[in-house]
Amino acid sequence: MSERMILVLDEGTTSTRAMLYTADGVRGAMAQRELSQYYPRPGWVEHDAAEIWERTLACAREMVAHVGGADRIAAIGIANQRETVVAWDRRTGAPLSRAIVWQDRRTADRCEALSAEGHEALIQSRTGLVIDPYFSATKMRWLVDHVPSVAAAGDALALGTIESWLVWKLTGGLHITDASNASRTQLMTLDGAGWDDELCALFGVPRAALPAIVDNAAMLGTTVPDLLGGAIPITGLAGDQQAATIGQGCLSPGTVKATLGTGAFILASTGPALPVSAHRLLGTVLCQIDGVRHYALEGSIFVAGSLIQWLRDRLGLIAAAADTDAIARSVPDNGGVVLLPALSGLGAPYWQPGVTGSIHGLTHGTGRAHIVRAALESIAHQVHDLAAAFAADGAPWHRLRIDGGMSANDWIAQDMADILGLPVERPADIETTARGAAMLAAVGAGLFPTLESAMAGGSGGAAFEPVLSGVARDRRIAAWQAVLADAIRADGGRGGAALDRP
Ligand code: ADP
Repeated sequence: MSERMILVLDEGTTSTRAMLYTADGVRGAMAQRELSQYYPRPGWVEHDAAEIWERTLACAREMVAHVGGADRIAAIGIANQRETVVAWDRRTGAPLSRAIVWQDRRTADRCEALSAEGHEALIQSRTGLVIDPYFSATKMRWLVDHVPSVAAAGDALALGTIESWLVWKLTGGLHITDASNASRTQLMTLDGAGWDDELCALFGVPRAALPAIVDNAAMLGTTVPDLLGGAIPITGLAGDQQAATIGQGCLSPGTVKATLGTGAFILASTGPALPVSAHRLLGTVLCQIDGVRHYALEGSIFVAGSLIQWLRDRLGLIAAAADTDAIARSVPDNGGVVLLPALSGLGAPYWQPGVTGSIHGLTHGTGRAHIVRAALESIAHQVHDLAAAFAADGAPWHRLRIDGGMSANDWIAQDMADILGLPVERPADIETTARGAAMLAAVGAGLFPTLESAMAGGSGGAAFEPVLSGVARDRRIAAWQAVLADAIRADGGRGGAALDRP
């Protein structure tokens, strides 16, 4: 009889997946379903929480059947898209509205008002987060203010992020959130055990509707037996970027990972030390085990892989994302072209929502390959600017571990090593989010005493060492900086903190 497996539920923005792992982190079978995306108005992004639940359950059932029954599963771990908010009725377990997704900007006015009222310093010092519609608190308040059934639910109202919603459904009414997800709401102080009364009052979120904040790895609950054919313990929960950081083994202070997907999310562990940023990076909980927290500094780049999709779907310059590697190699350099990828403003460390994208340096000699190459180069430049902000915050990088769909591109990985002047490492299995959730679940189920011991020896992988000459590197960086500074100036922007580097 083979060993029992860990079932990971990986709740992304575009799809939900169920995956099987051995206790020591080797990936097996997977089931996946797409999720419907609703864009009812410009800037609004919604999900159907009932659909998320039904499709997650279908994927989970497929994997339980695949492995031969619920008694073959030792534990469940969940990693989820963060910040997305669900409101449901405790009596019926039914959603009271569509879920408001992390990308949704509908609360921009409320955020502007909070800034104008002078609340940013308090919010940043307590939560580690800047004021932005990205986070959960203003979304929760919006539901209370604008959805009559949410306002009328009274004591029956439950509010939570996606892991809370799934745990409620899986367990038949347990209302919990883990500390990593709670740290994205703006309602918990970074080192506080529970919700912060003052923050709940400031954002107008009913505290009674919120879940209990629990560890990322522990015996958290058990599934209703009927759902999966047996009661399975849920022993790991984490936000997807935290899970990827754990899956990359970035636990000790100073280790850093970049997940290059639709956007790019970079987290550097600060260990037990509270992260503090003077350069508009975010402070976040990496994980909490036995009540002890580890933290991370985070930088979010809004446009990474979506730039490649734009080249393909809007410009028609490429047929497939993977073609960009060979196209970039087909020319010796960018031919003087610089591409600013500000397709939805600029995120960290610039925080310039009004800046738009542009392509510079066009001549008769410019070809498709130069533009594609300049697009790929913009990824390394954005990451390099974040590296400067992390260094300025006292968290310099020594090497960078990458994952996510875009990390499969060797040319990008090499260019990142060249521009950062640092080794870039890519694991053989780039599904680090699910792997992190599996590790947390294994620890929570008592199969390993610590996360460090749950970390399987990374097999294979690739390493990229910097080889570009200093002169060529400096020229690239100077050209990028000039275009960036011009765009921010033209927008009348304040200038990102990272631009003030020495
Ligand atoms: P997400 O989890 O955000 O949905 P993924 O990690 O699956 O994203 O990565 C998908 C993104 O990576 C897409 O935007 C795609 O354009 C980009 N991508 C995938 N493969 C490559 C490649 N070989 N080169 C460049 N970009 C790629």
